[in-house]
Amino acid sequence: MDTSGNLFARALKRIPGGVNSPVRAFRSVGGSPFFVTSAKGATLTTADGRELIDFVCTWGPAIHGHNHPRIRAAIATALEAGTSFGTPNPYEVTMAELIHRLVPSIGKVRMCNSGTEATMSAVRLARGFTGRDKIVKFAGCYHGHSDSLLVKAGSGALTHGNPDSAGVPAAFARETIVVPFNDPAALDRAFAANPGAIAAVIVEPYPANVGLILPAPGFLRHLRSSCTANGALLIFDEVMTGFRLARGGVQEIEKVVPDLTALGKIIGGGLPVGAFGGRAEVMDLIAPLGPVYQAGTLSGNPLAMAAGIAALELLEETLPYPGLDALGLRVKGALEGACKAKGLAAQVPQTGSMFSIFFTGEPVRDLEGALRGDAKLFARFFQRCLDQGVYLPPSAYETAFISTAHGGAAIDRACEVMDSAIRGL
Ligand SMILES: *Cc1c(COP(=O)(O)O)cnc(C)c1O
Repeated sequence: MDTSGNLFARALKRIPGGVNSPVRAFRSVGGSPFFVTSAKGATLTTADGRELIDFVCTWGPAIHGHNHPRIRAAIATALEAGTSFGTPNPYEVTMAELIHRLVPSIGKVRMCNSGTEATMSAVRLARGFTGRDKIVKFAGCYHGHSDSLLVKAGSGALTHGNPDSAGVPAAFARETIVVPFNDPAALDRAFAANPGAIAAVIVEPYPANVGLILPAPGFLRHLRSSCTANGALLIFDEVMTGFRLARGGVQEIEKVVPDLTALGKIIGGGLPVGAFGGRAEVMDLIAPLGPVYQAGTLSGNPLAMAAGIAALELLEETLPYPGLDALGLRVKGALEGACKAKGLAAQVPQTGSMFSIFFTGEPVRDLEGALRGDAKLFARFFQRCLDQGVYLPPSAYETAFISTAHGGAAIDRACEVMDSAIRGL
């Protein structure tokens, strides 16, 4: 079989940068990416025969660990019946009912194929519903790569130094107002400066595409009350946080009810799925009931629905959140302990099974704070972990994920490796 080196050389000739999503290229941490040939539980096996403890978890979806037998069996059963029908299928109804049960603010839901589609469509719907054009987003929040949202974005856009993408018409970008996260006064100023013009405020309630940032107490409630006062919709982008920290997402934890919610990642059980939903009154503006157009050839695909339903049902049955939080706290403790022993200033934000590390002395509350972290030091930390078999997200501006398969030996080993990687910096 081809080694990672051979595969990457071939990929570079036919795929831009050798990858189908930019952060995978390892540009900000150096070196070239490894290719994975299989994954199981907490472990990735590379084309070079290495086994790595994986804290990327396919960027979030693999909350039950890789290749979970229950999800695989659900896909296999669906596969027996066919891969795609282009008509309504029973899985779609089950999925919609399941989503409503888990996230009660979603009275009605439309399935799509990625998180990008979900946020893009939610924004269009908010514009259609309000008859307004402008939207507000927060610096460093990433909502996928659609034009209106790729302004001061996080994730790969930030990693590669182009949070404002080329190819987005200036006229589109002008409709997107960007304010700092955790700054209620800046949001108030945006509403005051654009009376009656803002259709929606879109937010990752726990921003996790710039490393992990948590909201100051009351910030999310302020978003809710300002949107209500100004006739704008509040869109929670829970593509990453949905089902990851609680059954009902951050909206359940923080008791803040958005008008629309975008979902993705875990909802597909490892297959390409996104969804957006909210109150029936708003959702009923979508075609065929209303004038806001949205569609998808493969939306509600039976294989993808089967995988997602299995993943969500497994969450309902196992309620893994306290156990995942304990694993998260262990990693946080290991990282903080090692940094303290080494005399290294660091912040280790963690909530449940999400964590990141910023090498800076000050708590990080927004994009500016995240950028103060030492990204070069992070790259060295990343490489030292990888050398010893622990794979963290290959960027200082991503969040690491833990799965239920990380308990026991994997977490022990990973904490040991991270400890020694920090001490050796
Ligand atoms: C990953 C992500 C997206 C985009 O989802 P894709 O499936 O990659 O298109 C949107 N919003 C958030 C918060 C994400 O983490």
